[in-house]
Amino acid sequence: MPNAYEKLVTELREIALLNSANSVLGWDERTQLPPKGAEHRGNQCSLLARMAHERFTSPKIGDLLGECESQSRGAAPDSDIGATLRETRRDYDRATKLPASLVEEMTKTAVLAQAAWGEARAKSDFPMFQPWLSKTLDLKRQEIACINRGGEPYDTLLDEFEPTETAANLRRVFESLRGSLVELIAKIQSSPRKAPVEILHRSFPAAAQEKLAREAASAVGFDFQAGRLDVSLHPFCTDIGPGDVRMTTRYDDHYFGDAFFGVLHETGHALYEQGLPSEKHFGSPLAAAVSLGIHESQSRMWENLIGRSRAFWNHFLPKAKQAFPESLRDVTPDDWYFAINDVRPSLIRTESDETTYNLHILLRFELEMELLNDQLPVADLPDAWNQRMKKYLGVDVPDVSQGCLQDIHWSGGAIGYFPTYTLGNLYAAQFFEQAQKDLGDLDAQLSRGEFAPLLTWLREKIHRHGKRYSAGQLVKNITGKELSAEPLLRHLRNKASELYGV
Ligand code: ZN
Repeated sequence: MPNAYEKLVTELREIALLNSANSVLGWDERTQLPPKGAEHRGNQCSLLARMAHERFTSPKIGDLLGECESQSRGAAPDSDIGATLRETRRDYDRATKLPASLVEEMTKTAVLAQAAWGEARAKSDFPMFQPWLSKTLDLKRQEIACINRGGEPYDTLLDEFEPTETAANLRRVFESLRGSLVELIAKIQSSPRKAPVEILHRSFPAAAQEKLAREAASAVGFDFQAGRLDVSLHPFCTDIGPGDVRMTTRYDDHYFGDAFFGVLHETGHALYEQGLPSEKHFGSPLAAAVSLGIHESQSRMWENLIGRSRAFWNHFLPKAKQAFPESLRDVTPDDWYFAINDVRPSLIRTESDETTYNLHILLRFELEMELLNDQLPVADLPDAWNQRMKKYLGVDVPDVSQGCLQDIHWSGGAIGYFPTYTLGNLYAAQFFEQAQKDLGDLDAQLSRGEFAPLLTWLREKIHRHGKRYSAGQLVKNITGKELSAEPLLRHLRNKASELYGV
């Protein structure tokens, strides 16, 4: 007779199988599906999602969970059982505290609000989107009232993406980051040195880009026997299940950066998924990623801390020159390194560089919190946005399509999501500093194309634990310190001093 815990784990595994079937359909939808099949695919996906949700929120799960909890009182919180029950309880409470009518209203509103956002952005017409943003915020306030994890209202929303994180802690870290970044970027702007970015916009045939990107993904440790790389309009990485992690990219024949760094980014996500103990614990929190911020720390580490380092290109520039002999013949290692680390304030978050990126996020974090707390009327959002863009990045926003309507997130109800991007950068820098201490001369290893020691370190310190520890605990366990802006600032200042002489 299986005991309650075994029964619970079996249930979770079967629910995860339903969700992973949905993930295959989702991957197919974004890479293969002919346009006329979209409606049928929507029906398939929503049925599977409903089946998984009904199964997870059924009283059966609640009963099993309650039984397991009373049987395992005293289990260490980071033991297999302790962590599994803690995280399943979190998810179960979140999923069952929202009334079905509110969930339905939110789903419906998200679809309509996204459509309105798309049109408003195309026409650069904020009033067209304004009532939908108001309604979305209203529904979010209802969601907070139902779930109420305590603390500030924003904490409850944050909790969905970055469990246990708080607005107060983010303010502490983000405020020290903001002042220093504004100062650093102003200094860089005043430097007479400019990056030779033209070299990234030469001719780079897609087929050769794909070959090089695959070579890079393999070199850093992506297992193509347990994953794929395909093409999609918007790059993503999806974990289908044990032995099957898929990522995508897109190629532009006249720009090197998009595909190569995009693939390194998705490879970072994929390496995390391939490193989770899903053979053993599929469906359990022990085989799930800690948080969006920790996930993003893995992608940003490979994309930026490694992929934009001099050491990485000591190894890879000769390979890039072989792939693009015409376009890269005259390019020196110094020019290449400067070009891929260009810092330039701009309007669009997704096109911004490693240094200015975080100010785009900080601005969104501040504004969404003020909107939620009724400190900023929705009608005043465009002005507040534009003023802060001027103050932080020194740029003038010509219209709302390049201002507060540029991202899809808010229209889909993702409020409390943006901070996870900057958290990713902060975690990545803090982990990377520790890896440099632990692994000896990491730069020399990267210059020789030896990525295995670093990947092994990440597997050991982060990947294999699944959700056993919260993000905050993980940072403390690995680095011995609380999350801090200093490692990221040190990294960005070092680069700025090397490249811009500031
Ligand atoms: Zn990412």
